[in-house]
Amino acid sequence: MSLQKTLEEIELIRESALLVSKTLGVLAKEIKEGVTTLMLDKIAEEFIRDNDATPGFLGLYDFPNTLCTSPNSQVVHGIPNNEPLKNGDIISIDCGVLKNNFYGDHAYTFAVGEVSDDIKKLLKVTKESLYIGIKEFKLGNRVGDIGFAIQNHCEKSGYGVVRELVGHGIGKIMHEKPEIPNYGRKGTGKKLQEGMVVAIEPMINMKTPKIIQHDDGWTITTRDNLPSVHFEHNIAIIEGQPEILSTFEYIYDSLKVSSNEEDEFHNYFS
Ligand code: MG
Ligand code: MG
Repeated sequence: MSLQKTLEEIELIRESALLVSKTLGVLAKEIKEGVTTLMLDKIAEEFIRDNDATPGFLGLYDFPNTLCTSPNSQVVHGIPNNEPLKNGDIISIDCGVLKNNFYGDHAYTFAVGEVSDDIKKLLKVTKESLYIGIKEFKLGNRVGDIGFAIQNHCEKSGYGVVRELVGHGIGKIMHEKPEIPNYGRKGTGKKLQEGMVVAIEPMINMKTPKIIQHDDGWTITTRDNLPSVHFEHNIAIIEGQPEILSTFEYIYDSLKVSSNEEDEFHNYFS
């Protein structure tokens, strides 16, 4: 299968990526103390189906839900449950949809109420690393340039870059080639091509990069039980440059924060 998509295919992936972005925007209004991740999962599934799409994760590799909900020391792949969120928690929400035969896959880590300054910094640096990685996703670069940039930015703050889980190509299949690690060496790996579409998704731990896979076959936590943060965008190379197909703007609107994704992104381009 070609790693290069046509502009028409990229538009369909953008449609799916935007639906996931809107879904996370809807959830952003609901995330507060006392809410359970199973409640969020139901809201997300209904919203996706109301928009003529199907949840992309439900049934994929036999995953049981619409959302992966991973609080605090859970890195990714947490299964929604009846445990209420608490003030000071963080909750990573990863969501996929399938619409018009193309997938979107997008994630955000939310603060529940007031979180500690240490966690605020982990959230900020991880989100920065996402944009810094995206900046490298362009013609003339290689896969290793993306991972190098993300790793370098996060390790400067003493954070741990998870090795076992990586970003990926996306299209008619949720996880396509190439793998996009969040670590790497400059100038190594596959050459980036016009029309490539990938998910870049730093999974960054407060301290150790080491993780544990739990007995449910899904949940992954940090080995030291310290927090972990995850942000994910879908990006295409168009005319040689990265174009982000998903957006955090719906989340920012719901949270009534003044952040502007366009500005955040261009800060790392200047
Ligand atoms: Mg994802
Ligand atoms: Mg992904």
